[in-house]
Amino acid sequence: MLKVGLTGGIGSGKSAVSSALSSYGAVVIDADAIAREVVAPGTPGLAEVVSEFGDRVLAADGSLDRPALGAIVFADEARLASLNAIVHPRVAERSGQLMAEAEASGARVVVYDVPLLVENGLESLYDVVVVVDTPDDLRVERVSRDRDMPAEQVRARIAAQADRSTRLAAADLVVDNSGSREELASRVAELWRELLERAD
Ligand code: ATP
Repeated sequence: MLKVGLTGGIGSGKSAVSSALSSYGAVVIDADAIAREVVAPGTPGLAEVVSEFGDRVLAADGSLDRPALGAIVFADEARLASLNAIVHPRVAERSGQLMAEAEASGARVVVYDVPLLVENGLESLYDVVVVVDTPDDLRVERVSRDRDMPAEQVRARIAAQADRSTRLAAADLVVDNSGSREELASRVAELWRELLERAD
């Protein structure tokens, strides 16, 4: 089974690419969804986060108050490391389970959608790293058009992530998403052929 790490900056089109790959038969694993799952209400992960950071990181409904937690950890590297020590092993364990399930199901290609793959130096976990490459201005335009996020906020997120050349340097394969949705669909069809060849 070929393990593909799919990455790209905010609004580059990772979800669009992974859903097209899933329609071809790839098993898609969403790293952000796993990161939410391991600290969902009722989980041991959330209990540990609360014992480390206190009730102030809980929202009124008992879920994790991410902005409150973010305000604590992003101002203090040691606290960020404590949070990572709780969350990362759980994410790794759950990812391993999902990979094993994909393998057992006979999937030839598993695609792991990891927004911060390059930022976190995770290249070596995958057989192939695929980068979705989209000019910054288009990402700002698409995200502010399709989501409730002002252009300035998208620009700030872009500035906080890896830059284009760093990401491209980590890529084995690049999907250009600077064109229409139709163009993206045909690029993903090509990508799928390439991945199947490498899976053999
Ligand atoms: P994030 O990292 O924020 O989750 P993402 O990389 O998964 O983003 P998508 O959600 O797939 O990106 O795409 C960002 C937005 O751009 C979406 O609203 C999507 O519908 C739109 N989009 C993607 N590709 C194109 C395209 N080729 N033409 C026009 N709009 C597009």
